[in-house]
Amino acid sequence: MKPMGVFGGTFDPIHYGHLRTAFEMLQALRFKDVRFVPCGDPPHRGTTFASADQRLRMVKAAILNQDGFSVDDREIRRDGPSYSIDTLLSLREEFPDRPLGLIVGMDAFLGLPGWHRWDEFLGIAHIIVAHRPGWKAPDMGQLGELLAEFGTHRVDDLHATLHGRIHIHAVTQLEISSTEIRDLVAAGRDPRFLMPDAVRDEIEASGCYAQGALRN
Ligand code: ATP
Repeated sequence: MKPMGVFGGTFDPIHYGHLRTAFEMLQALRFKDVRFVPCGDPPHRGTTFASADQRLRMVKAAILNQDGFSVDDREIRRDGPSYSIDTLLSLREEFPDRPLGLIVGMDAFLGLPGWHRWDEFLGIAHIIVAHRPGWKAPDMGQLGELLAEFGTHRVDDLHATLHGRIHIHAVTQLEISSTEIRDLVAAGRDPRFLMPDAVRDEIEASGCYAQGALRN
């Protein structure tokens, strides 16, 4: 069975950096689909700016009509902090026979040792790392060792087993970040062409990134 990509994030807001990354993974890694999993209560990040519902709406708007893309709201529905381990475990239960590929940017990968029960991830899923502008793959330390042991350049390896490999994949470098978009909108400027128009429309309608719109 073809692998499922699992792309978690705060998506506050979702932008073309996320979408292009997911799309290239879908195609190049021959995934059946990619699920966007917006987190409810991000344990690493403190507060979000847009509410969980608004972020979910923006992801839905962004992926509408794109074959192979879907949104999964299990982290938003779950109470308490959104831990990736819980998401992976519940997906594994739901899809016992499908390879799972947890997609993370290089910045997120470098922070992985801080994630709750991260050392169990490879027992459930593959880890797919998207190269982001300005970040270098670790060649020493815990992650360097993990890469030496479980890293693979072969896409077939991600299809051959259900979990357990790490694959670093270069994606088109789009230096877009949600932080910059929020700052831009708060400064009264237009985020057009950094994200689908449907997401921009949501931002405009909700006013979620207007100055002082910080949630707690
Ligand atoms: P923020 O600026 O608020 O930190 P962000 O733009 O990094 O947000 P997140 O929702 O935190 O977006 O990111 C979700 C995932 O997408 C992370 O794994 C992150 O590394 C990855 N990602 C974010 N922006 C890009 C990009 N431009 N290219 C590739 N991957 C990205």
